[in-house]
Amino acid sequence: MSKFSFTTGILHCDRQDPIEHGSVHKPIHTAVAFGYEDARDLADVFQGKVFGYSYGRQSNPTVEALQKKISLMEQGLASVAFGTGMGAIGTALFSLLRSGDHFVSSSFLFGNTNSLFASFQAIGVDVTFVDATDVAQVESAINERTKLVFVETIANPRTQVSDLEAIGELCRERALIYFVDNTMTSPYLFLPKNVGASLVINSLTKCIAGHANVLGGTVTEMGNYDWTQFPNIYDNYKKGDPRLWGITQVRKKGLRDFGAALAPEAAHHVAVGAETLALRMERSCENAMALCQFLARQPRVKKVFYPGLEDHPQHERSRKLFRHFGGIFSFELEDDIDLFNFMNSLDIVIASSNLGDNRTLAIPVAHTIYYEMGPERRASMGIADSLIRISVGIEETDDLIRDFEQALSKVA
Ligand SMILES: *Cc1c(COP(=O)(O)O)cnc(C)c1O
Repeated sequence: MSKFSFTTGILHCDRQDPIEHGSVHKPIHTAVAFGYEDARDLADVFQGKVFGYSYGRQSNPTVEALQKKISLMEQGLASVAFGTGMGAIGTALFSLLRSGDHFVSSSFLFGNTNSLFASFQAIGVDVTFVDATDVAQVESAINERTKLVFVETIANPRTQVSDLEAIGELCRERALIYFVDNTMTSPYLFLPKNVGASLVINSLTKCIAGHANVLGGTVTEMGNYDWTQFPNIYDNYKKGDPRLWGITQVRKKGLRDFGAALAPEAAHHVAVGAETLALRMERSCENAMALCQFLARQPRVKKVFYPGLEDHPQHERSRKLFRHFGGIFSFELEDDIDLFNFMNSLDIVIASSNLGDNRTLAIPVAHTIYYEMGPERRASMGIADSLIRISVGIEETDDLIRDFEQALSKVA
């Protein structure tokens, strides 16, 4: 399938395998259990000698088709799907790390990932948070117990961009697993494989599904890491192609034991959304750029954070790495403006916590999604009380600009 370009590949991916009744996309298979004529076949499936389905928690034909599609989009070797993005991150790390291990993480993180990593610390997996826009800080946090480095591409809400290439090089030199959360860029804007990522996370809930009607997550193996060097693989999973040992442990041990499985109906919704990922991203990135350029000119706006603006600290890096600059930005209003009054003055833009929706959404960050982490951690992440994050949808650009314009005039 790699001979096709992005959207063509997604649209025709399911039909590369035999597909029931000539369906143009994979149907929804709701069966939880799968029966075998010959009981020996069932045993062979369990022992991994042949591919087949056994029980819905491990996989299902509809979920399998989506996993193939995500692998195609990320140009990876294999993917495992989960019920949510958090299910993917938590299960992958839990099945690969052991008590006493250490990992380095960007301190600019999705709030729930930050909370999850604090839970890892509580059960004896050590985490050091660093400013990952600078590879030197990642390097100085590595110790002899370090197993992996975790970064996001464009961090929300402040849009810091990790030093993705240099960290990839560092991980290769030090034989560390390089874990990249590609949710904010999606495989349409950026392929983490090209900077040496070992495992890639996508919250399917966001841009890939795109319509705010389904939750999902995936972990994808890129084939860049030598799993024979990794001490935490159980003997049972040291079989076949060593490039797949890690993802096999995530699937067989992690997904099976934790059970954060993706439902077949959800997999179908994600697959339908993915068909228009490129079209939606084109529009939302274009809208984001236009809105940021507009807001940066407004006297009542103190600061706009968007990798597409020339004064963004990682503007050049973003230009080099990403197809476009993304559909997320944040901004601060002047101190005398009440941000709740401003948000209530917006007509089209919805006050909501989601990201990557077709509709444009706004959220007062410090008061909501980053409230629980407290003022100190917020300050270390550069999150001011007046910061508003915008997830830009696919509405007509002029409508969005007019909405911000009239809301600003009401609070001015
Ligand atoms: C939303 C998000 C997640 C978690 O995904 P869910 O599907 O909501 O569990 C992880 N990482 C990033 C960057 C996200 O934006």
